[in-house]
Amino acid sequence: MIDLPVTLPDIERAARRIEGRVLRTPFVLSAVLTERCGVPVGLKLEHHQTTGSFKLRGATNVVLSLSPEERLRGVVAASTGNHGRALTHAARAEGSVATICMSTLVPENKVAEIRRLGADVRIVGGSQDEAQTEVERLVAEDGLVMVPPFDDVAIVAGQGTLGLEIFEAMPDVATVLVPLSGGGLAAGVAAAVKGRAPRTRVIGLTMERGAAMKASLDAGRPVQVEEVASLADSLGGGIGLGNAVTFAICHALLDDVILLSEAEIAAGMRHAYCEEREVIEGAGAVGIAALLSGRLGRLDGPVAVVLSGRNVDMAQHLRVINGNADPFREEAA
Ligand SMILES: *Cc1c(COP(=O)(O)O)cnc(C)c1O
Repeated sequence: MIDLPVTLPDIERAARRIEGRVLRTPFVLSAVLTERCGVPVGLKLEHHQTTGSFKLRGATNVVLSLSPEERLRGVVAASTGNHGRALTHAARAEGSVATICMSTLVPENKVAEIRRLGADVRIVGGSQDEAQTEVERLVAEDGLVMVPPFDDVAIVAGQGTLGLEIFEAMPDVATVLVPLSGGGLAAGVAAAVKGRAPRTRVIGLTMERGAAMKASLDAGRPVQVEEVASLADSLGGGIGLGNAVTFAICHALLDDVILLSEAEIAAGMRHAYCEEREVIEGAGAVGIAALLSGRLGRLDGPVAVVLSGRNVDMAQHLRVINGNADPFREEAA
């Protein structure tokens, strides 16, 4: 096999490093999905992670890998979503500070939330690109350390710790279903699970609208796709044309990538709420959505599903629960 940038020993080291700093989230059997699918279906409740998503694992691993001088200078990112929250929390927990750059377009409630977690928020420019330019300026002029959301070996190793926990909870797991965007989570989980059990299948799930990793895997190299609004907003964005880590791992290790429609993602969120009593965001619902859609084909053994996050706008969640199959589209109309 070709050498991959992150392998099982890196993930085991990350697990030792972040132990006690992130939650070991519950893994529970879903009675309803088990009955429906005819094989045991376990849910990794990672949306209960501190800051509401798995991104705390990677961010904590990065911050703990910094030198004392780097921690003193602080970290910086342009993410207004789960990566921004996680990095802010991880930096603060280790006595460092995260600077989060955002454009003037970011809604006030998101700004307030990241600030409440302890970030030094910089509002700059009218687009995400301009916010990213400010990140690069802070790196060049003030020596802050930029922490990317997925394409980084320490991020991937941190996210991979979730795969170790799944394997420990379900050693005979045959299929792992994992949400896929930039691929930090899927690459880490696949490297961990296949490092322990090479024949376990790892399947990436993402939305039909703007699936950059899927398009890149099909093309055999990183490509850009048009970004479209989706219920699974945490799965938006490209993988970077200069992708150095996650594309190669996803290319080598993912057994399949399945795309879900907005209606299927909504059905996944509804199932999580009504049957499992869990509030999850669209990105966190794609695994359940894939099981409900029947598009996984025959399942030949126990399935583990990663519920990756819960940071959903609650008004939107309510619309989904009340049965509007595509609330985003209605809102935009
Ligand atoms: C970031 C994120 C993902 C996708 O993770 P990648 O590492 O970018 O593939 C999935 N679900 C949630 C909730 C996220 O925040």
